[in-house]
Amino acid sequence: MLKIEGLHTYYGNIHALKGIDMEIDEGEIVSLIGSNGAGKSTTLNTIAGLVHAAQGKITFQGRDITNMHAYKLVDQGMSLSPEGREVFAALTVEENLRLGAYSKKDKGAIEASFQRVYDLFPRLKERITQQAGTLSGGEQQMLAIGRALMSEPRLLLLDEPSLGLAPNIVQMIFSLITDINKQGTTILLIEQNANMALSVSSRAYVLETGTITMSGDAHELADDPRVKKAYLAM
Ligand code: ATP
Repeated sequence: MLKIEGLHTYYGNIHALKGIDMEIDEGEIVSLIGSNGAGKSTTLNTIAGLVHAAQGKITFQGRDITNMHAYKLVDQGMSLSPEGREVFAALTVEENLRLGAYSKKDKGAIEASFQRVYDLFPRLKERITQQAGTLSGGEQQMLAIGRALMSEPRLLLLDEPSLGLAPNIVQMIFSLITDINKQGTTILLIEQNANMALSVSSRAYVLETGTITMSGDAHELADDPRVKKAYLAM
């Protein structure tokens, strides 16, 4: 579904991605793990058209999407739930969600997406008219994911959904990620919480200073002594 070949990204003269190769098949949850500053967000933002790819190729559903604008990628079936959530604090839950469906015209389809999001996140339904800035961290995370789902993406890019959340909320979010995947959405998950990420993924990639250093079956990686030592605090 998504193929990344020899991807290089720079910020000025900082060489943030140094030739990344990755592949995601339809129906998978794939995680990209790595320490702070490894280049995880840069990878996601380059795929999503928010950061310029200097070299390499990104193919989505057979189509070359390298450096395609983010808004066009939404129409192609890809959407991003960004790090730090970035919900619109002054807007209500419903208004935030509606923004996620901006490219859709069909009212019935938009209503169906609202229903899907409220079924997945009943807490959001209870808070429809509440300003997003007054939600808890976990609820804001749900809102960011819900907003990304409003465009009914075939591929959902999730940047650090566990960031800054209490362990029980993290459990809940990861269980919802599994539910979203079971409904047919392919997921690329970026996480510092390698433990949780590997537990829900079929495969994973390990990123270190802009280079993929390991990849494979998520459960095998979780058992790998190098991964345990560096990312699982064992
Ligand atoms: P984090 O979990 O902290 O977000 P990350 O693995 O997602 O880490 P990136 O944010 O992708 O890492 O950063 C990769 C490298 O690029 C780092 O060295 C970082 O300092 C640098 N970098 C990221 N964004 C910018 C930017 N806007 N301008 C300059 N350098 C940047």
